[in-house]
Parts: sequence; structure tokens; C-alpha cells
Amino acid sequence: MISHTSLQWQSSDWQSILQSAIRHSTELLQAVGVSPNSVTAITGEASGFPILAPKPFVSRIEYGNPQDPLLLQVLALKEEMTPNQGGMTDPLEEKRFTPVPGIIHKYFGRVLLMTSGSCAVNCRYCFRRHNDYGSNILTPARLTDALAYLRSQTDVTEVILSGGDPLLTSDRKLSELINQLETIPHIQRLRIHTRLPIVIPQRITPELCEQLGRSRFQVTIVVHCNHPQEIDAEVGLAMAHLNAQGVTLLNQSVLLKNINNSAETLEALSVELFRIGVLPYYLHTLDPVQGAAHFYQPLSDSKRVHQTLQARLPGYLVPKLVSEIPGSASKTLIY
Ligand code: SF4
Repeated sequence: MISHTSLQWQSSDWQSILQSAIRHSTELLQAVGVSPNSVTAITGEASGFPILAPKPFVSRIEYGNPQDPLLLQVLALKEEMTPNQGGMTDPLEEKRFTPVPGIIHKYFGRVLLMTSGSCAVNCRYCFRRHNDYGSNILTPARLTDALAYLRSQTDVTEVILSGGDPLLTSDRKLSELINQLETIPHIQRLRIHTRLPIVIPQRITPELCEQLGRSRFQVTIVVHCNHPQEIDAEVGLAMAHLNAQGVTLLNQSVLLKNINNSAETLEALSVELFRIGVLPYYLHTLDPVQGAAHFYQPLSDSKRVHQTLQARLPGYLVPKLVSEIPGSASKTLIY
């Protein structure tokens, strides 16, 4: 049995940490001291989305608490099997916006490169949980076409590395990709959307920091943190290393029922993020993805929570409440 005190990940490199991630509900419950009788856990395979929970993240789960907000983000529950009306497998209709494999081009001036087909954690609410990454991932064979597309789109000034989690790419491969992107003169900014610095902060290696620091691009990293309990000293250290390289750090969260749908929790999250050098950026409403309806919170409640947040925090600590509507020219602000 793995207990909190025996989680020896601190001295390992990030690939080994990833390899030793928890992949079964029984193992996960055992690690956090929760009785299987107190939750309706199922295997990830049963719902078509495997369990994947890296130990640095698991170590922040409160021992013995079946309602822990971090545990509920990674544990597959029976509710995932309930068919939900309106639940989709591609809620953002991203297939429509794929001009060449490996690219999503939805918004003016910005292009997503699907750099990796997997993540370091499988978040149960993920809108890409049904994604067929195989057909739309940037493989070496597809890179030439993707770069040719970017060269042809002279109004594109920002490239966003997405996935899956783009930081699952090795430092060497990432460096090669950035070097190639830097040869395209109209691209000025590089943005990386990643949950890795939160779930395995050891991913922020000196090599990665050096690469980002010397890039000709203005680099932004958007981390994905939903709850203040996800932030510990290691995460703070990772952010400090990135900050030291002049990387702009932003956060996006998803508003999730029973996880972070209270003004108190979101206020604490904003304050903690700012303390470690990260600005709150977006608070997303949940996309209507099949298998995640139990995280849904009505829009009227989301607005109320956000209004309370606005009343309690300075403007720069209030993330924008947004929805993604397929076909819109940008994210849709909710007031
Ligand atoms: S890290 Fe992001 S893309 Fe990966 S499973 Fe979680 S929400 Fe989905």
C-alpha cells in the first residue's frame, strides 16, 4: 500500500514520476486511505477514459477524505456511465477547425498545435476525454505540412502548444519544434497550455527554462489549476524558475460542482496563484462532454459565485468567466 509518507517522488525525474502514476481506482483509493464502500468508484476503462493520477498530485489529497476536491478530479465514478442529454464527444466541434492534421485554427491570429496526444493526469471532466488524438496529433511526418500551413497564414502571430499536454514532449523535441517555429517571421508569441507544472512540477527542468528564456518569442505558460490545495512548495518553485526566465504565467480553471464552485475556494485559489507569480486568467464553464455531467453547475449559480468573487477581490485577481461556443470568434464572456 502507498501511503502519504511513502510517496518518494521528490528525488525522481519527471519521466519516472509519470511512469509510476496511479492507474487503477483501487490503488488510488488505497493510496489516499479511502474505503471503496464510501464512493461509487469504477475503473477508468469502464467509462472509456483510463485513470491516471501522478503521485505528486495524489500526495496533496487529504488522507481519508472521500470528498476531497483533488480526489474527485481524478477518480472515475459510476456517474460517468449515466448518459446525459446534450453530452457530446466533441463538444467544441474541433474537427471542423482542422485545416491540416495537428492544427486547430479557430480564432483570428492564433493557431493551436496539437503537440501531444496524452496528458500526465486524466481529469474526469476533460472536454477532450473522447478525443481521437491519433488522427490529429503533430507527428514528425505531419510537421512539414503543419509548418507550411503556418508559413502561409501570415496573419497568425501566436502559436499555442496544446494537446493532450504539450510538456509531455521531451526537452529535446520541444526545443527542435520551437527552433523551427522561430524561423517563421510573422509568429511573435508562443503560448503553452499545460497542467504538468501543477501535477508534476518536476517537469520544469533547467533545460526547459533555458530554452524558453532564450527564445525570440514572448512566451506565456497557461497552467491549469482548479483548487488552492493543488498548490504546494514544489509548484511554487517551478513557477519561480519560469518567472526568472521572463515567462508570463497565467492560470485557467474549470468551474466544477463539488470541487471549486464556491467564492471562498476561488478567492483562495486566486490569492495562492498570485503569491506564486501566476495571474488568474479564465474561469471556464464546463463543456457539455459525455461522462462529466456530475461536475455541471447551473449558469445562474456560476454567475452568482463570480459576482461574489468580483466583490471580494481586486480586479486583477478575478478570472474572466467564459464559455466556449463552437463557431464563435472568441471565448464568450459571461456577465
Ligand atoms: S490536463 Fe487538460 S487536456 Fe489533459 S485530461 Fe486534464 S483537462 Fe484534459
